[in-house]
Amino acid sequence: LVSREVKEEDTVLDVGGATLGGRAVAVIAGPCSVESKEQLLEAARGVKALGATFLRGGAFKPRTSPYEFQGLGEQGLKLLALAREETGLKVVTEVMDPDDLAVCAEYADVLQIGARSMQNFPLLRRLGAVKRPVLLKRGPSATIKELLMAAEYILAHGNYQVALCERGIRTFETMTRNTLDLNAVPVLKSLTHLPVVVDPSHGIGLRQHVPAMARAGVAAGADGLIIEVHPHPEQALSDGHQSLALPEFAELMKQVRVIAGAV
Ligand code: PEP
Ligand code: MN
Repeated sequence: LVSREVKEEDTVLDVGGATLGGRAVAVIAGPCSVESKEQLLEAARGVKALGATFLRGGAFKPRTSPYEFQGLGEQGLKLLALAREETGLKVVTEVMDPDDLAVCAEYADVLQIGARSMQNFPLLRRLGAVKRPVLLKRGPSATIKELLMAAEYILAHGNYQVALCERGIRTFETMTRNTLDLNAVPVLKSLTHLPVVVDPSHGIGLRQHVPAMARAGVAAGADGLIIEVHPHPEQALSDGHQSLALPEFAELMKQVRVIAGAV
């Protein structure tokens, strides 16, 4: 079902008027985690003013250590809904536990499936029955084929509103957090009609290099970018080292517009 052979034209997700896929490059921006009302609203107002159409922010966080900040849970979802109300941005947030699916779907506009959950097949099956678009992130060690098959689960169970996200894979390289596999962008675009989003933040994991990889993602043909932006990255409870401050995001948005217009 995900194949271009089955459906030739690009799938465009229409999220209450905001689109993902098709001609324009959609920008999803915001903090790694929802931390507080002040933090989230400052981020949301900032990225909205600079041209983002979607707000990202994790309420249920997949942290490597159980002792790290795990997210605000439902309280975080409520803050995301508040930010949407104020800014009009559509909300993208991660769901990890199938038991949280209903509450996440109640508040979010797009459900993000994190890299670590890409092959959580019970979760993928249940997403099939949810009336919300899904942003499916590539697992850190998943092949392009495995990503496509994970998406196939969601479509096969009834939900055709799926976008794929390249967020870097694990390689032998240790200078960067992951290796952003830009090969995946044109390869996916040729194999599937689903929109392809690039996550340069997790892809490289270093704030100073995020803009270069974001530009490269757009040049490679991505339909969207998902970028971690924090009003005060040095105070972030997660992924501050790879989060852009608003002035850096402003500069990047200018560059993205130029590149998007050229490809
Ligand atoms: C995130 O988007 O903050 C995140 C946890 O991403 P990933 O699942 O790609 O690691
Ligand atoms: Mn993160």
